[in-house]
Amino acid sequence: MPEILRAGRLFEVDLDALRALGVRALLLDADNTLCFWHSLQIPDETLLWLRQAKAMGFALAVVSNARTRRLQPLAARLGLPIFHRAMKPLPFALLRAAKALGMPPKHCAMLGDQLLTDLPAALLCGMRRVLVEPLDRKRESAFTKGFSRRAEWLLGRRP
Ligand SMILES: [Mg+2]
Repeated sequence: MPEILRAGRLFEVDLDALRALGVRALLLDADNTLCFWHSLQIPDETLLWLRQAKAMGFALAVVSNARTRRLQPLAARLGLPIFHRAMKPLPFALLRAAKALGMPPKHCAMLGDQLLTDLPAALLCGMRRVLVEPLDRKRESAFTKGFSRRAEWLLGRRP
């Protein structure tokens, strides 16, 4: 199985390197990856990165565990399809997204900030896994802070 790729924040992910690995579609986690947690705010650097990804011909989609349609305006503003209620680490929403983009899973990468949801979902459907640093570790859900980040630390993840 291909190794986990690590980057700083999303906008620091090397698009040329992904393309060289055969990646043609990028599935993006929303909260703390694409935008700040529970916010529609996107860093300027990320907007530039998205523009570059589009210009390079990558297919893009947002795949989020958000349970509401809160992120719909953000995805619309970016012109990206969005798959809510993804229930990562289950793989089904990622597979739906890949199908909608017309890409076989082996040409897709899932990019997200959570070791316990984003990455296993990608592994289960044979996609590349890219772990990014959260945009802001201070602004996260109580569950993420209290459980997920501690578990990640125990699994050896160090910021
Ligand atoms: Mg996230």
